[in-house]
Order: sequence, then structure tokens, then C-alpha cells
Amino acid sequence: MVERTNNGNYWREEIEESTSPSALHTSLRVSPVNSNRDSWQYSDRLKWYLLSLGNGDISLEDVGGYPVSMRFPKYWNDTLNEMVENTRKDKHEWFCVVGVDRLNQRVLIPRRVAQGGLKMISHNLHKEQVDLAKEAGADMIIGSFHTHPSRHEYRGLIKRFFLANSLLSAHDFYALLVHDEEVFSGAVQTNKQDALIFKSRQTKVEKDMTYLPPGYRDQNSFADYWYRTLGYKYNPEEQTTERVDKKSVSTDEWNDAMWEVNLAISRKHHLAIYRGNVGFGLGRFYPPSTNSQYDDFLKGKTSKVPELPKL
Ligand SMILES: [Zn+2]
Repeated sequence: MVERTNNGNYWREEIEESTSPSALHTSLRVSPVNSNRDSWQYSDRLKWYLLSLGNGDISLEDVGGYPVSMRFPKYWNDTLNEMVENTRKDKHEWFCVVGVDRLNQRVLIPRRVAQGGLKMISHNLHKEQVDLAKEAGADMIIGSFHTHPSRHEYRGLIKRFFLANSLLSAHDFYALLVHDEEVFSGAVQTNKQDALIFKSRQTKVEKDMTYLPPGYRDQNSFADYWYRTLGYKYNPEEQTTERVDKKSVSTDEWNDAMWEVNLAISRKHHLAIYRGNVGFGLGRFYPPSTNSQYDDFLKGKTSKVPELPKL
């Protein structure tokens, strides 16, 4: 048991952004009548979904039931922007958890964010932040965010790759899959591009990594397995990826391969994956939406995040 120290300074205040009648539905814990499945505005749908999951009132959405776009509230973006600023300054990854306070029906995001490593958020840091959040009043940790410095060292020629678009590492996928309580994980880059994955009902049903040999179901083996499907391998000592055949690759080739890894893990584990920009919104890339406006962005033809449908 974690002892509660109701620390009001720990969490950021939610700012009411909508006066729509759906706020009423949120307080009544019923599905908004006019909910548009194609886009989830925070106060209309995303907040209701996270609180209902936290209350245990509903189960996870079907992987095909996630909306084609969603938007975070300002009080989340304030914390994410602060993490991005910290990463710009010190090149470290920064981390925070998102919690649910059942009694007060609040979705909680901290003011205080935690400094991670240069390339990774350790299990210990994750656990420490979960414990702190629970001490400060969170009943359940529903997800987490971390930042990515906008570079990745590719071992072959020690190139520094600047990621054009938002991506998650195979390690990020693994961390979400093994944290049973958590349903989403997001990574924000210093250009504020954001990638987010959500577990679905099907993820819960098939959560085991039985396709990996026994003894090879740890995080590094998971990453290595998935990078190898695209001709890369993971070097745990240096925490880098490189081509199995030692060929050098361009930034674009590397980005394309990493995106294929993101899609392949999402398919295998029935995760919905979103990409977008903090402050503007996120579009669903898997399962594929019929929104062809994302195609150029997805293929790297433009780094401009597509405008999302008006909410
Ligand atoms: Zn990451």
C-alpha cells in the first residue's frame, strides 16, 4: 500500500476549455450522446474514455473503434511543452505519468516532470514516478509521456539522424505492453511532433509475446526481434541500431524502416497508433484511416503535420 499525501502542488490544474453540454455527460459518467467517433476532443470524449477506464466502467476500445483524430487539453500540453524545453536544454529524455483520481473524477498530469537518461527511460525511473503519483493521489496510472531528443545515433558510421517525423522505439512499445495498468504511451520530440499508442481490447486478449522464444522476452530481445524484421539489429551495450549487413543507410531509409517497425508492432499487438503535433492534434495512422491527407506526411514527402478535421 502506498500512503497518500494529498499533494495539491503535484498535479497541474485542469482548465475548463469547453462549455459544451458534454461536460455534463462526463460528470454523469455516460457516453456523450453526440460523440463523433471520427474525432475525440478532450472534454467531449477522451476525458470520458480515460475516466471510465479508470473507474472500471468500460473496457478498452476495439482497435478499429479509436477515432481518426484526437486532441489533448491545454493542461497536458503545458506539461509536454515543459518536458520538450528541458530536453532541448539538456538532451535528456524527460518523463511523466498520467493518472486517474476516481474520487474527484480527474485525469491527472504532474507539474513536476522527471529527467530520464540520454536514450531511455529506465524501469526504475518509471516505477519511482508511478509510486510518487500514487502517493500524490492517483488511484491508477493510465499512461505516460516521454520526450525524444531529435537525433538517433546510427552505429555504422556514427551518423546523427534527425527524425523528420514522430516515431516510437521498439523499447517504448515493450514498456507499454508490460505495464498492465497503462493503456497509452506517447513520445514527443523536440520539434513537438508526437507519437502515441493506445492499447485495444484485442491487445489485452493477446498480450503475451509467445512469438519470442522463452528466455528472449525481455525488452532488448523484443527490440532486436522487431528491428531484425527490417534488416537492422539492436546493440544493447551502445543502445544503437545498425544494419545487419553493415551497409550505411540514409536518414530517410532509417526513418522508413523505423516507421515500418512501429506499424508492424502495432499490427501484431493490436495497438492504435497516432502521430501529430502537440497543441494541434493527432491523426490515426494504424489502423489506417481513410484520411489520405496523412499520406504525404506518412511517406515523409512533407514534414508539415496535416491539418486535422475541424472539431
Ligand atoms: Zn522512447
